[in-house]
Amino acid sequence: MFVTKTIEDVRARRWANPGQSWGLVPTMGTLHEGHLSLVRRARAENDRVGVSIFVNPIQFDRRADLDAYPRQLERDCALLEAEGVDLVWAPDETTVYPPGFQTYVTVEDVTKVLEGAARPGHFRGVTTVVAKLFNVFQPTRAYFGQKDAQQAAVIRQMARDLAFNLAIVVCPIVREPDGLAMSSRNLLLKPGERPAALVLKRALDAASAAWESGERDGERLRAIMRDVIAAEPLARLDYASAADPVTLAEIDGEANAALLSMAVFVGDVRLIDNTLLGAAQPE
Ligand code: AMP
Repeated sequence: MFVTKTIEDVRARRWANPGQSWGLVPTMGTLHEGHLSLVRRARAENDRVGVSIFVNPIQFDRRADLDAYPRQLERDCALLEAEGVDLVWAPDETTVYPPGFQTYVTVEDVTKVLEGAARPGHFRGVTTVVAKLFNVFQPTRAYFGQKDAQQAAVIRQMARDLAFNLAIVVCPIVREPDGLAMSSRNLLLKPGERPAALVLKRALDAASAAWESGERDGERLRAIMRDVIAAEPLARLDYASAADPVTLAEIDGEANAALLSMAVFVGDVRLIDNTLLGAAQPE
């Protein structure tokens, strides 16, 4: 496995054998089984696998969140080596954003709701860095997690609108045995907060059970989730959404497919989770 900070090294490896297919897994590091599920899928579907590790400062809307974000490059590289990854790009900030940098990618409507509404500038940061990653690696396929459902929708939109020459593959959410969606941020939970973090999955499960029993009303599904969160003293709801899975517009009245999603503060840690109802799950 070759680890580098430079764009030149990535390009040289990528094009050493132009006939080979490449899978790219973009990450911010502090890897867990969720990331590794993307790596394994990429490994199975491509001749070569590249992983980027970059804590992207411009997608953080809160400085404290950026500063607190965990970083473990050596451990990450050991995990990736064991998965048979070929190339890791772990650039410095000035490589991604050299002095004088002034070009940003903005996706419009689908970024205005949910995470985009709660975190101003977040998706502009995500699409800008992912566009750069796509240009540096020029992968055949790029792998993203359903964990960040809106991010996946935004990147699909960007890739389609700007005709990036690659396939976007979205992989299912990987959870801890107790149901908590894996996230690098889970490490920031204090021991007493860890059980409270299960409230996100409980809220999704309660609304999913109502859906199974025939509930199709968007507002009633949102209310079920809000009530479960409100019952957990250590949790503070940011938003609970029942939205159209493609446009992400809130369901007003009844629908036959829904993306249930939420953001919840558990202590100081902001966690997100989601589930798709009545629509094709990612494979
Ligand atoms: P991050 O390092 O948080 O930026 O995540 C990198 C990629 O891994 C993103 O495409 C995430 O959606 C994906 N990912 C993170 N956590 C999970 C998870 N629990 N299950 C599946 N994919 C995940």
